[in-house]
Amino acid sequence: MASHAITIGDFTIKPGEHRTIELPLAAMVTHNDVEMTVHVVCGKKPGPVLFVAAAIHGDELNGVEVIRRLLQQKQLNRLNGTLIAIPIVNVYGFLNNSRYLPDGRDLNRSFPGSSKGSLAARIAHTFLNEIVRKSTHGIDLHTGARHRANLPQLRADLSNEEVQRMAGAFDVPVIIDSKIRDGSLREMCDEAGIPVLLYEAGEALRFDELSIRAGVRGIINVMREINMLPHKRHRLHNKKPLISRNTTWLRAPHSGVLRALVPLGAHVKTGDVLGIIADPLGTSEYRVTAEEEGIVIGRTYMPLVHEGEALFHLAHYEAKSEKVYSQLEAFQERYEPELNPDAPFDPHNAPIL
Ligand SMILES: [Zn+2]
Repeated sequence: MASHAITIGDFTIKPGEHRTIELPLAAMVTHNDVEMTVHVVCGKKPGPVLFVAAAIHGDELNGVEVIRRLLQQKQLNRLNGTLIAIPIVNVYGFLNNSRYLPDGRDLNRSFPGSSKGSLAARIAHTFLNEIVRKSTHGIDLHTGARHRANLPQLRADLSNEEVQRMAGAFDVPVIIDSKIRDGSLREMCDEAGIPVLLYEAGEALRFDELSIRAGVRGIINVMREINMLPHKRHRLHNKKPLISRNTTWLRAPHSGVLRALVPLGAHVKTGDVLGIIADPLGTSEYRVTAEEEGIVIGRTYMPLVHEGEALFHLAHYEAKSEKVYSQLEAFQERYEPELNPDAPFDPHNAPIL
């Protein structure tokens, strides 16, 4: 057997093979079998083993489409190393349009799990042993929650040099140097010494074309950086990434009906009004104001809010705000879905609007 063949479950994938395998999970209550579909692309030459996972939260869909597009890349024929793509980790949540498992557990708080535990513990255990422990690098794809959208951003532990290198290559204007949450996949990767990026973009149960495009491109950029794919002769966007070490949430000062006044990506200054909360008759109004300059990297789209609810997520930077904002604008222009009536229609790659 060639040195870099990889065995997942009962299957061994040899150099030069592309294979879809099914990892068995606990059956549904109907007795129907449930499997986690894993696509493995084993390159002809050895190299890193990268897992790309989506829908660990079952209602987070952008990553599923990111993986579909990634697997269509012809350049995967020239892959060094192995790509392990898992479009739907939380199969049960996905079937129910739910973030959670049927028992209400959050898979991303259930690692390392166990083979004899609850449904969440078992999936976590399978994923950890069959995927994570066989990888050298990882990318975990997420979105905001329901009615909440995130500007494309990375969460990463930048104290790890390899993570820093991957994050820099990915090409998003917002990188948050963030601590690792208990029981998360990211924590497990950290313990196993596997550098991992968490990509957060868009909203649950929605497709967002810009988030999807930036995700596909970001993964390819990382694969080039770690020498899984050939480098482009010219690097188009090799600006130093901007890192935010401090983000804050603006919360509702009062319950009521919110009129949000700023889009995702807006640059707000101290004292700017981001939204107004009123009672339904409009007799009393409360302003939501920025206490500090920043970029809006997350916001609610639900106009009905309760006192204390998180409304706007702001990232703060040490770098000059003009620099941050110009990078952000360039990013948005780069990935904005164009409406070009003359472009030939390609149903596999047509922008989702
Ligand atoms: Zn998530």
